[in-house]
Amino acid sequence: MMNITIPQTDHIKILGVIIDSKLNFIQHVKYVINKATKIFKNLCKFVRPTWGVHPENVDCIYRQVIVPIITYAAGIWGSATRFYSVRQALRSFQRNFAIRAIRGFHTISAVAALALAQFPPLHLIINETFEIHHIKQTGTCNELPDDITLYPKSKVRDLLHPANRVTIKYDEATTQEDTTALINPDAPNIFTDGSKKEDGQAGASFVVMLEGQPPIIKKFKLSRTASVFMCELYAITEALRWLINSDSIEAVIFSDSQSSLKAIQNRSNTDPLVNQIHHMLSHLSSRHTKVQFVWAKAHVGIVGNELADAAAKEAAERKTATLHNFFPLSHAKRLLRQRTLDAWQQEYVSAPQGATTKSFFSSISEIAEFRKYIKISFTITQILSGHGYHKTYLHKYRITEDDRCPCDDETPQDVRHLLEFCPIFFRTREKYTMMCLKRKIEPFKMNTMTKSEDAIKYFTEHVNNIVTHLKQINGT
Ligand SMILES: [Zn+2]
Repeated sequence: MMNITIPQTDHIKILGVIIDSKLNFIQHVKYVINKATKIFKNLCKFVRPTWGVHPENVDCIYRQVIVPIITYAAGIWGSATRFYSVRQALRSFQRNFAIRAIRGFHTISAVAALALAQFPPLHLIINETFEIHHIKQTGTCNELPDDITLYPKSKVRDLLHPANRVTIKYDEATTQEDTTALINPDAPNIFTDGSKKEDGQAGASFVVMLEGQPPIIKKFKLSRTASVFMCELYAITEALRWLINSDSIEAVIFSDSQSSLKAIQNRSNTDPLVNQIHHMLSHLSSRHTKVQFVWAKAHVGIVGNELADAAAKEAAERKTATLHNFFPLSHAKRLLRQRTLDAWQQEYVSAPQGATTKSFFSSISEIAEFRKYIKISFTITQILSGHGYHKTYLHKYRITEDDRCPCDDETPQDVRHLLEFCPIFFRTREKYTMMCLKRKIEPFKMNTMTKSEDAIKYFTEHVNNIVTHLKQINGT
């Protein structure tokens, strides 16, 4: 071009993503890992004089800064995790952070370090981001039947013209007396309710109460993917549809869902059900039907409320085909997160490394539970990882000639021996096990121990006692 030869290149960078000629994005992964490492080093420099790089800070920086940098635009390049080399690079990258976050020895395996630090493997997180992007683009989720699609946002052209939107007010009823006082004897009082059962079954209902007439009860079975919020809104939509088809000139609608009423109150809400409700309210207003909303906090005692509640539950359990077959994005995100955790657990169990950690915890979730109660530290990590100042470790790395404990010059000195049997640490162990006996706790089962604050305290004391005296006892 203009006598200048433009060289060919095998990759370009667009908006922070390196696109290579083979479209495998391996180069991009290398690039982000490099970038995140540099940023972390700079952050460390910056924080040291003021608050130091404490393990908690590493944890915070990792979650809030590093993970977002790595997963940026993963919807585009996330399929690169199918390559073993990419997974490997990500694992060794995050292993460094995990080890710092738990203050562990630099020899700890990635499996144990990630588990103890509670950092889910990055390749799984990237996969998750990739799939969420796919769901947003296609409206379907691989984990769900394909007749259930993503709950869409309303398009701007479908929204009601702002001038026609009705601003609603709602009364609050906290007690049974309040509710009774708000019942209008001359108009239909419509009680709406949504129900979501533990196993995911969902339903909606409304009950019309008219003075001197038997109640009209309507039930709707919704898809398992529906949220409680969707159920509640669906019930209100159907109640309004009934009202439009009746010739009433006024009505009171009771709902126990404040979030639904707030959503309806928000004139610029783009939820499709809310949008539908806005259209219906506008229609009712144009033919001069007055609609009053009531947020009924108390469920008990009011016949209409009780009937609606029972009807929604019954609808949820019906075997009939479901209405409103949508899933909110949050539902898909939950499914994908569960899949990530399952895959992580699988990796944890099947990896050949991390034997000591696995002897304490059979699952990732057990560690999560443990970490809720016990702050991870330099000493605790040594015990839970099996990488520390004890002799089986020192011997393995050829720092000492043998691995035997000085208590009898015979038994291999591993963490189990120190924790449960070694007479040198009898005093703190006795104190701890006595406490466990009193509290009916199995002392060396990590997850029963967390049930008592005193046990946690004495356990920590025992561990600290072991680790601080080991160097001296082993003469290293
Ligand atoms: Zn010993």
